[in-house]
Amino acid sequence: MPDGMEIYASAIERLDVAARFSDAAPETIERLRRPKQLLEVSIPVRMDDGSLRIFTGYRCRHDDMRGPAKGGIRFHPGVSRGEVMSLAFWMTCKCATVGIPLGGGKGGVIVDPRELSTAELERLSRGYVRAVVDAIGPQLDIPAPDVYTTPRIMAWMMDEFSTIVGRRSPGVITGKPIALGGSLGRDDATARGGYYIIKDMEKDEGWAPPTTTVVIQGFGNAGMHFARLADADKYKVVAISDSRGGVYNPDGLDIAKQIEVKAKTGRIDLSQGDEITNEKLLELECDILVPAALENVITRQNAGRIHAKVILELANGPLTGEADDVLHKAGVVVLPDILANAGGVTVSYFEWTQNQAGYYWSLEEVHEKLQKIMVREYRGVASLAKNKSIDLRTACYTRALNRLAEAHECLGIQSDFAPAEVFKGRPKEAASKA
Ligand code: NAD
Repeated sequence: MPDGMEIYASAIERLDVAARFSDAAPETIERLRRPKQLLEVSIPVRMDDGSLRIFTGYRCRHDDMRGPAKGGIRFHPGVSRGEVMSLAFWMTCKCATVGIPLGGGKGGVIVDPRELSTAELERLSRGYVRAVVDAIGPQLDIPAPDVYTTPRIMAWMMDEFSTIVGRRSPGVITGKPIALGGSLGRDDATARGGYYIIKDMEKDEGWAPPTTTVVIQGFGNAGMHFARLADADKYKVVAISDSRGGVYNPDGLDIAKQIEVKAKTGRIDLSQGDEITNEKLLELECDILVPAALENVITRQNAGRIHAKVILELANGPLTGEADDVLHKAGVVVLPDILANAGGVTVSYFEWTQNQAGYYWSLEEVHEKLQKIMVREYRGVASLAKNKSIDLRTACYTRALNRLAEAHECLGIQSDFAPAEVFKGRPKEAASKA
């Protein structure tokens, strides 16, 4: 069974890059190299035919100095120890980048949920909670949906946790159905967060929406909602795609119709323009390219053929590090995933906050609070990038590291404890440069 540790090794390389632009103490960086807790569990599930299957699951709490850990649970055959650790690390960095008071966590089960009946899926979801119950909780680590996990699964998990602890605990998990304590506005939060950044850039970039072209890869939660928001604002969405391929029309697509067709048939409408492959779609000339499907779709191989001016990474990890370098040199502005798609975790944070208070906000309040955070944090990242002459991704990680260091170092570092004759390094001031 591959453990995916090479993914983790590559993920934490970002720490070393950010360290060059941050005053974080070396010991803080050492702490962030390793997850605080990693749990591997086996989950026995009685199948419908009477047999017993044992699934492997994980929960990782990477860092929780800034607040309880937060991160989804993935049900996928490709889940591995290293993947879960990497995703938890990215959540630590994402929450710190946008300044929400949460740490990073992630979980997963090695399973193809499409092979399970609804009853088996419920038993697996409840079994997962029983297996990791000591590692999660509203003040400890708060899971959420991720690949192939749904609001219904969150409802089963919340119900199981509540039963075990003997009290109703909606704040243990986010992404719940609204009737069980979910938040208004969570459905389109990821796309909306990215869209607020685009709106804030509009003036500086000199975009006039009716002539500003948008290309979107992936027409699921992130991509479809982004298309809807951009279209409602009169941006010209010229190409979209899903796993079966895409459609391109330089005069713009009818997005309302696309959403209707997708809801009815599960597919996008290819008759609105020319059919185009997912590979060619990424290479279209456009103002804004939105990868909103899979990781690693822009690599060293195709980076030189990307003709977008701005890339908004709604997907997690759509660019490889090598592609990043090529695009940066070519002057393409990349809005990195840990900022661009942070609207999702931000509204999850709102959901948890509302659960703690037992008081629920209107949709307008959710939108207003989300916009404030996304715009403030985008501007902070952009100004750090400008001041240090670094790309936006390095600026995000540096900003995150500064905030993490500020929290970790409140408890003291070597220079605070060692006698002057022992500690020869430079005493460190509080890292408050975020
Ligand atoms: P989703 O399952 O709702 O949609 C994924 C879309 O991608 C679907 O339209 C699917 O047809 C399409 N797709 C699949 N394979 C493809 C391929 N080979 N080429 C082109 N399109 C393909 O998933 P989602 O929630 O929209 O997530 C998409 C990305 O956004 C993921 O990387 C996810 O991690 C990231 N993300 C999502 C959220 C969220 O709140 N939904 C938050 C943060 C990050």
